[in-house]
Amino acid sequence: MAKLNLNRAEFVKSAASPSQFINSPMKAVVFAGKSNVGKSSVINSLLNRKNFARVGAEPGKTIHVNYFAIDEKMYFVDLPGYGYAKVSQSERDRWGKLMEDFFSAGLFSLGVMIVDARHKPTADDITMAEWFKASAHPFVVVANKLDKLKKSEIEPNMQLIRETLGLNDDTRLIPFSAEKGQGRDILVSEITALI
Ligand code: GDP
Repeated sequence: MAKLNLNRAEFVKSAASPSQFINSPMKAVVFAGKSNVGKSSVINSLLNRKNFARVGAEPGKTIHVNYFAIDEKMYFVDLPGYGYAKVSQSERDRWGKLMEDFFSAGLFSLGVMIVDARHKPTADDITMAEWFKASAHPFVVVANKLDKLKKSEIEPNMQLIRETLGLNDDTRLIPFSAEKGQGRDILVSEITALI
C-alpha cells in the first residue's frame, strides 16, 4: 500500500457548479453529512488538524463543494451539510441541484457518509444514503459522536442506523469519535486502501 501523508493537506477550491468540479485521475474521497454532525471535525481528525476544514461555522450558509488535496495523491471532497432547519427553500433547491449534479458527474472513488451515533438517521440521511447506493462507488458510514453514548447503547444504535439506512452487509459502519479518535484507524485504512 502506498503511503499517504495525511498531515500534508491544502485547500484547492470551492465549486458552486458542475463546471468547477475537479475531474482528475487522482482518487477522491467525498464526505457528506447533515449540518452539525461533525463532518468538519471528522475531516480535521483525519488530517490531525484542529481548524482546517471549518468547524462550527453557521450551518447551511456554504452551498459549495470544497476540495482539499491530500499529500498531492488524492482529494478530500467536502459536500455542503444538509438538514439545517433555518434554510430557505431557494437554498434547499440550490443544495439539491448541486448534489444531483455532483452525483451524476460521479467524480469520486469512495463515499464517507457521516451520521450521528446517538440518533436514528433522518429522512435527509436516508436520501443521502440512497444517493451513495445508486452511485457506482463504494461508501462507508461513520457514526460520529460515539463518545456521547453509553457502552450499552452502542450496539443497538449501530443496528438502528444500519436498518434505517438499509445498509447491506458489505457496507461498513464505523463507530467514530472525532473528539476522542475512536474509529479513526479504520477510516484511515479505508482511505489509504485507495492508493
Ligand atoms: P459540521 O457542521 O458537520 O461540520 O460539524 P462540526 O465539525 O462543526 O461539529 C459540530 C459540533 O459537534 C461542534 O461543536 C463539535 O465540537 C462537535 N463534535 C464534532 N465531533 C464530535 C465528537 O466526536 N464528539 C463530540 N462530543 N462532539 C463532536
